[in-house]
Amino acid sequence: MTLVAILSGAGISTDSGIPDYRGPQGLWRKDPEAEKLVTYAPYMSDPEIRRRSWQMRRAGAAVGAEPNAAHRAVAALERSGTPVRVITQNIDGLHQRAGLSARKVVELHGTVHRVVCTRCHAGSPMADALSRVEAGEADPPCTVCGGILKPATVMFGERLDPQVLSDAMAITKASQVFIAVGTSLQVQPAASLAGIAVEHGARLVVVNAEPTPYDELAEEIVREPIGTALPALLERLSAEHGAG
Ligand code: ZN
Repeated sequence: MTLVAILSGAGISTDSGIPDYRGPQGLWRKDPEAEKLVTYAPYMSDPEIRRRSWQMRRAGAAVGAEPNAAHRAVAALERSGTPVRVITQNIDGLHQRAGLSARKVVELHGTVHRVVCTRCHAGSPMADALSRVEAGEADPPCTVCGGILKPATVMFGERLDPQVLSDAMAITKASQVFIAVGTSLQVQPAASLAGIAVEHGARLVVVNAEPTPYDELAEEIVREPIGTALPALLERLSAEHGAG
């Protein structure tokens, strides 16, 4: 059966009200003060940066983004019996919230729904940390060792987890169809996955409003809005390649 790999970027979550924060044109890149809140060195060295960073996450969590039609279409593709894996640049967890099995999702930049201790690496739910902020702890320390907590995301100035990258690479090489959706394919190493997929024989489909550097390698380019284009594309694939 055909393995469909989907590389998703910020564009798949804009219909859920989540702006592009970390892309080349993202909000954080345009605002140096905001960028500090998500950059490793200032976060680790400055308690005031951490205090503001927790307040920002508290405000973000209150908004409570929901999956949209594109996330639901990916989950439906899995239910249809088509082997599918998602490699996402997003930290919002919306693929899983839409019903896709967590083990089918590789989160290149981690997840905002967990926190991790920078000293002992103990992990715990973000919700617990935010409850402590709510209760008055401006910069809640690790409950195990007292170390500095940070979201389980890859901040600017941090490297991608080599194991996560290796998982993404394996999926890319094994895929027969590789769909890059809502990503400008400008941030490495995620962008290079599109080229690697083609080198290994996959059909590349690009679903993105703007041109990408990999368009010329693509068998199909879709510029229509993701919320309608992706469900239509995946339904067609499911009919072509699915179990049924
Ligand atoms: Zn710790």
